[in-house]
Amino acid sequence: MFIRVEMAPEAAGDKDLAKKLAEVCPVNIFGVAPDGSAVVIAENVDECVLCELCVQAAPPGGVRVHKLYSGEVLKR
Ligand code: SF4
Repeated sequence: MFIRVEMAPEAAGDKDLAKKLAEVCPVNIFGVAPDGSAVVIAENVDECVLCELCVQAAPPGGVRVHKLYSGEVLKR
């Protein structure tokens, strides 16, 4: 595991944002759960291309992408 993607609970529970995240991530790291909330698809996480589209799509603090190999965090 080189990457960890974290969502704030209020971001994960936002159904419109869940759809948007599933749409913007080019490598399908976000899915929509049956209740409409956003989920991180663990087996896809290491495919992350660090494009920050998820970070920009979410409100500040909503999504953080941790580069576990360097300690750097993509966030806003
Ligand atoms: S940074 Fe890009 S590839 Fe990585 S999880 Fe976000 S949208 Fe997907």
